[in-house]
Amino acid sequence: MRKGNNRIYIIDVTNRDGVQTSRLGLAKLQKTMINIMLNEMGIYQSEFGFPVTRHETHYLNANLRLAKMGVLKPIILSGWIRAIVGDVKLALELTQVEHLNISASTSNQMINGKYRGKRSGDDVLKDMTEALDYAKSHGIKTVGVNAEDASRTDLSFLIKFAKAAKEHGADRFRYCDTLGFDDPFTIYHRVKSLAQKVELPIELHCHNDLGMVVGSSVAGAKAAIDAGVDAYINTCVNGMGERAGNADLVSVVLAIQKSSGFANKYVLDERIDLAKSWQISTYASYAFGVNIPINQPGVGANAFAHESGIHADGALKDRHNYELYDFHELGRGEPEIIETGRQITAGEYSGIKGFRNVYEKLEIRFHDDKEATEILELVRYANVHTQRPLTKRELLFIANYPDIAKELMTFTPLA
Ligand SMILES: [Zn+2]
Repeated sequence: MRKGNNRIYIIDVTNRDGVQTSRLGLAKLQKTMINIMLNEMGIYQSEFGFPVTRHETHYLNANLRLAKMGVLKPIILSGWIRAIVGDVKLALELTQVEHLNISASTSNQMINGKYRGKRSGDDVLKDMTEALDYAKSHGIKTVGVNAEDASRTDLSFLIKFAKAAKEHGADRFRYCDTLGFDDPFTIYHRVKSLAQKVELPIELHCHNDLGMVVGSSVAGAKAAIDAGVDAYINTCVNGMGERAGNADLVSVVLAIQKSSGFANKYVLDERIDLAKSWQISTYASYAFGVNIPINQPGVGANAFAHESGIHADGALKDRHNYELYDFHELGRGEPEIIETGRQITAGEYSGIKGFRNVYEKLEIRFHDDKEATEILELVRYANVHTQRPLTKRELLFIANYPDIAKELMTFTPLA
């Protein structure tokens, strides 16, 4: 039996939480490729960056242009800012962003620990409603209100904060388990009570400090649906994210589609295509420079490997003996060609001959020498920008959308 008409949607935050992580980051071209692959996977929304951070401006506006052109469609692109009027104003000044999540700290720990007595919970609440009013009255189409450290926030204050957000027109409320303090049981009870009292769709934003991130994310989503509202789970590709990471995108999809308590009972956004998992996970691994753990659910090298006698025998007789789902479902199983002989690559010091050879292999033909020279120059810059050999998808993107590539790689520091 499915529960009502409410659904679980995914808002991926790789390009926000994933890239703000210590020692990790993505070039703007790589962030763009992630947005494209999230769109291909049918993900509802990508929190694609920081509208008040100057080095993001060209990237954000270039991706918003891709959305207008229909390349990034139907995915929704949303920015993350602090819940203060100044940030909303600056976001509107620098970018054409139409969707925002505005974030405020709500726990006593953070309010006292960060503001040192200078601001109270009610001050934070007032800042949030003012920022929300400003955003809503200046053309922002959807606004999610984030309660940072919600899991350590007094529940009655959290409800008051969320009700104020609803009264001022918030579209969703983000429950942030910022430190991964909740477990699947505590988050279920807290989110259910919050959703019942506030009646606003809930976003679950969980972290993995105690190793429970996927369990807590899906339990929170279950609570929202059981309370009669839609749920939105925040994920990162390969579980990237602050410290021990966010909820892994593929694991969350698998948990909802395949687990005994969710499969056929709770409805995941039907547009999600699990078969795009392999593509996005392997690309993110390459772009971040972080290997996929061998035992990663679905996409790890051992996720479908069997060796011990009883397991191998059982899996060969009937794969269902030792596999809950098939590798084809994740887009695995295609042979990958690895060049072991002579290779011509395109990079920051490439010349036109080698460059033509690279594109001819991709079956791209240029109209004339002028076009080829322009694309070559962009490819050189792209390689300066990513500092690793460009992938086939990246090379194709540059050839297909040279103006966008140029815009998103444009930097003018200290202008
Ligand atoms: Zn986070």
